[in-house]
Amino acid sequence: MNIKSMTLPEVTAAIKELGQPAFRGKQVYTWLHKGVRSYEEMTNLPKAFRDVLAEKYPIRAPKVVRKQESSRDGTIKYLWELSDGNCVETVLMRYNYGNTVCISTEVGCRMGCAFCASTIGGLVRRLEPYEMLDEVLFTQIDSDLPISRIVLMGIGEPLDNFENVLRFLELVNSPEGMNISMRHISLSTCGLVPKIDELAKRKLQIALAISLHGPNDEIRDKIMPVNKAYPMDVLLAACRRYYDATSRRIHFEYAMIDGVNDREQDAKELLRRLKGLPAHFNLIPLNHVEESPLKPSSKAAVAKFQKILEDGGITATVRRTLGGDIDASCGQLRRKYTKENH
Ligand code: SAH
Repeated sequence: MNIKSMTLPEVTAAIKELGQPAFRGKQVYTWLHKGVRSYEEMTNLPKAFRDVLAEKYPIRAPKVVRKQESSRDGTIKYLWELSDGNCVETVLMRYNYGNTVCISTEVGCRMGCAFCASTIGGLVRRLEPYEMLDEVLFTQIDSDLPISRIVLMGIGEPLDNFENVLRFLELVNSPEGMNISMRHISLSTCGLVPKIDELAKRKLQIALAISLHGPNDEIRDKIMPVNKAYPMDVLLAACRRYYDATSRRIHFEYAMIDGVNDREQDAKELLRRLKGLPAHFNLIPLNHVEESPLKPSSKAAVAKFQKILEDGGITATVRRTLGGDIDASCGQLRRKYTKENH
């Protein structure tokens, strides 16, 4: 395992095995979580020991291959090259409640949602825990902006990379590391039900977001293949179990697609099916993806949909679209770069 994927006790054990005292474990761990690029920067370690570490546990760090900053809202999008040459995207959004990074959890995705650019080339590989940590760390270092919130809403399906994602959460939450509160982290899934149940068992304080995008199986089946494996009733039952286990309200993401899922009857059906489940809706006008025929709903349709939900007792916000001038949504930058370079 890469040393930056190890927890503090694991780093300490590895270092004791190299014949060093335990306190060196914490020193190394702290340096790694500051985003050093080599052991040479760990100035409070003996030189000979730094050489042993460099040999046994090489430090990896991503390189910026593209960086785009929105002139409208300060959103910054990074395209990182990982140590094996694969690329992933991270987006830094500047909200008044804190700088938030949206990180990728996989290179590509195998979920096949019809509206999403990240899945077009399929899944290449899953990210290691330290690679997700690096997205947060190096975004903070490069931008020089302190990061206080994380959303797992970039490229990939986090629950399809379950163990690595959970390990990443532990790392980024650790007091000797970035110390980002679980309450400031949201994880978004297209609806992998067994993993939602598994996550509920861990009783983390993170927010769970579900990419719903439709009020029934007929509509979800058309745009989200995952619905065939875990239909809507099964998914909503899992959401109820998650709420019972964690007492945390479920966030639903709903990309508004013209003529597909944005009719009045769709909003009303949602109200019926979600009855009794504490929920919040994020309505997101679809970001147009070049390869897809799907189009965003009109402003009027979005506003009407929102009103029906709110009148029915479900809070719904229309997500401001940030970074519209910089391909800031869902795998678009990686897609563009890959196309240009092959
Ligand atoms: N795989 C996870 C994490 C990706 S999160 C999930 O499905 O939840 C990214 C969010 O953006 C998801 O809600 C996804 O459905 C949504 N999304 C993808 N493509 C989009 C597009 N073109 N316009 C608007 N939202 C999109």
